[in-house]
Amino acid sequence: MTPSTHYKRILLKLSGEALAGPNGYNIDPNVLEKYSREIKQVVDMGVQVAIVIGGGNIFRGVSGERSGIDRVQGDYMGMLATVINAMAIQSSLEKHGLYTRVMSAIKMEQVCEPYVRRRAVRHLEKNRVVIFGAGTGNPYFTTDSTAALRAIEVEADVVLKGTKVDGVYTADPMKDKTATRYTTITFDDVYEKKLSVMDLTAFTLCQENNLPIIVFNMNETGSLLRLVQGEDIGTLITA
Ligand code: UDP
Repeated sequence: MTPSTHYKRILLKLSGEALAGPNGYNIDPNVLEKYSREIKQVVDMGVQVAIVIGGGNIFRGVSGERSGIDRVQGDYMGMLATVINAMAIQSSLEKHGLYTRVMSAIKMEQVCEPYVRRRAVRHLEKNRVVIFGAGTGNPYFTTDSTAALRAIEVEADVVLKGTKVDGVYTADPMKDKTATRYTTITFDDVYEKKLSVMDLTAFTLCQENNLPIIVFNMNETGSLLRLVQGEDIGTLITA
């Protein structure tokens, strides 16, 4: 850690949809390139980076008879989709000269390492970017819950949730022009005001383990770097 960084170890959560770019599906090479540049900046500063990426751009668990796919089956398909995204990020980060590991909660040894907490920590200590694939490995969970769980396991200082908006608002800023952004808010207030930050499982895990969350706009160039330097951007959620 250099003196100018605020966090030693971060867990960056990116949604699968963010990777898709404007068309909403698949992987947009421009987004991949942009995110890799942003991530490299903080790795170069000595920050240890773990990443959880969603799968919504490829497949999101579906339920109901109309989908034709069983809920659990769909969730496993969603988890596999996250591995595809993890591999894409890995490849792109490596092009930028970073050392990386994909660790999957579902064993697929030809493709990536299985998730073993101690090994993940070791990789982070060696400044390798660790990308956690296949979610928690369990259906009925989300990649937000994965982000919270893995962050706690590897003792990350913070979960940085990169989104398309620059924080948590009093109301949906797309629908309500009077909505204002919180710079800081407590876990209790988020819960009481029913604000949407993460799903409740993920949120409760963070709250119970006193793990702060920062919601920020990952598409704003330099925002990740500014955050790790301790700038007051996005919304910080703490106890
Ligand atoms: N998923 C799951 N268990 C997990 C993580 C993910 O079953 O631990 C499945 C679930 O179906 C989910 C999909 O994988 O809808 C993709 O993850 P998510 O929706 O969280 O991706 P994002 O919305 O962040 O792109």
